Amino acid sequence: MQGRWTTAARAFVAAAGLWLACGACAAAPGVRLYTLDCGGAEFADFGLASDTGAQDGRPARLANPCFLVRHPAGWLLWDAGLPPQLPAAVTRGVPPADMLRELGFRAWAGPPLADQLRALSLKPNDIRYIAFSHLHFDHTGNANLFPGATWILQRAELAWALAEPPPVSMVPELFSGWRSADKRMIDGDADVFGDGSVRILRAPGHTPGSSVLLLRLAGGGSVLLSGDLYLTLEGRAHGHVPAVNADRAATLASMERIETIARRTGARVVVQHAPEDFNLLPKLPAFLE
Ligand SMILES: [Zn+2]
Repeated sequence: MQGRWTTAARAFVAAAGLWLACGACAAAPGVRLYTLDCGGAEFADFGLASDTGAQDGRPARLANPCFLVRHPAGWLLWDAGLPPQLPAAVTRGVPPADMLRELGFRAWAGPPLADQLRALSLKPNDIRYIAFSHLHFDHTGNANLFPGATWILQRAELAWALAEPPPVSMVPELFSGWRSADKRMIDGDADVFGDGSVRILRAPGHTPGSSVLLLRLAGGGSVLLSGDLYLTLEGRAHGHVPAVNADRAATLASMERIETIARRTGARVVVQHAPEDFNLLPKLPAFLE
């Protein structure tokens, strides 16, 4: 009876789109979050973190994680990090050692992603789904390692990313695998595994199809991976809109929506580029659950 009621209640909640009410549902079985080191970056002046000048003149170091979600129905990779070789569109031909001085920033890849997967006895083909907070080069660098995965793509994001000429920070060859891979095109929120435990929430503004990932872990806690909705912890505290941003009003509206969801679900918000948040997350082979 209990099981039937739970199933019926879940079906009703899903049908009504009232998934936020699902806080009362049983904890998601077996969902874990692994954090991978997919590079980093350093800025001599991180003024671009706010379009009001609030961060002008201050240097910054950024984390650049990828995340693996284990679900009983398969693995999901959330964001694909910085590429092993930075594309010329980003470096403008400046050698890595001179980038900070000449371009004001430098970036580096993490350990090879395939090696990090191996630490979990995984091969790229074992990953069932890949999805992205958005398609900028620092989130798609290893995407083409996963031709066998189903690519979950926001339709608006892909259309924007493929514009000619490419928008700033879009390097389409890094994620060209979308053309031949199995695809699940989405236009907003998506429930990846159909049980409410792993949800992509559209949060447009930084780019038209920017998204965040909301997880309900096996232990009952929720985690919200916020993509580039925020670039720094200070930016989250004060609602800084980055200078490189597609739609300011949309970004502010997304911040309001996502913060409301985080409060309602009690989710731990992870600012993906914040080294402070990266340092607090367990590293392979450890995980959150
Ligand atoms: Zn980024």
